[in-house]
Amino acid sequence: MFDERKPAPHTSPNAPRAVSLQPARSNAGGTQPRPDAAPRPSARSRVRHTLRQVLPEAAVSVIGTTLVKAQVKASSVLGDPMQFSRASLTRECPLCGHRGRFWSYGTPPRSEAMCPRCLSLERHRLLHLLVDAHQPAAFDGRHVLHFAPEGCIRDRLARISRYVTADLSGRGVDLQCAMEAIPFPDGTIDTVIANHVLEHVDDDLVAMREVHRVLKPGGMAILSVPIVHGWDETYEDRTIVAPADRRTHFGQEDHKRMYGRDFSDRLRRAGFVVEVFRADPASEIRYGLRRGDQFFLARPDAAEG
Ligand SMILES: [Zn+2]
Repeated sequence: MFDERKPAPHTSPNAPRAVSLQPARSNAGGTQPRPDAAPRPSARSRVRHTLRQVLPEAAVSVIGTTLVKAQVKASSVLGDPMQFSRASLTRECPLCGHRGRFWSYGTPPRSEAMCPRCLSLERHRLLHLLVDAHQPAAFDGRHVLHFAPEGCIRDRLARISRYVTADLSGRGVDLQCAMEAIPFPDGTIDTVIANHVLEHVDDDLVAMREVHRVLKPGGMAILSVPIVHGWDETYEDRTIVAPADRRTHFGQEDHKRMYGRDFSDRLRRAGFVVEVFRADPASEIRYGLRRGDQFFLARPDAAEG
């Protein structure tokens, strides 16, 4: 996943209990690899397990969040130690209201990418603005299915919508499923969110058609992928499977392709009408967004019937 920071475990009270939790059809087709053998618990999970023996769950959660925040901030400082000697603009975080300097984040570090209070990144803040713009129609009381949910936005969406989270790994989400096999009947979801997921799946057209199938008429998918805007066409080669080769060719070890400007055409091929959401240049500066960053809003084409 693009988002290196894992969301906190969360179960929506509105999770569809009647839906059968079908296992993913293929480990290779989803958002995260799953080892066949049970892995050894990490040092972090052993510490968490020990704390749970002696402390209330709420205290463990606070300690865990504090440690993760400290780790993320330390990686920012170590990754770009000169960042505080550079002049910076006062930015504004639409998620937590922080006003001030943003911190570097990423490999290589992106200058002023992260809000130091809530740890939101550029696309989290743009997604927040998108929810602001579409909240009544697409979120308030609606059935929302969120793949690989971004931790910064899930609490807000859980408050305002009938919210279900999903991921191939099943860790910290309501449903374990692949995007190519969504365990919902036809036409039952108002809004699907899947950011930086489609570049991970084996066959993105199958996943797009699956999203189209579960959306209600008038529903909407909010999608984003890494795009090379200088390319007319998406670059993919199914013979490239070794993780190191995929990193070289597609930018990350578990990426299956690198999209070009034809991403919208692929969505249209799956039966969608496509609109682009982006912030204006002044808002990009104010909220510390990446210039030209965009989300694709894909709605089932009513003319197709
Ligand atoms: Zn913030």
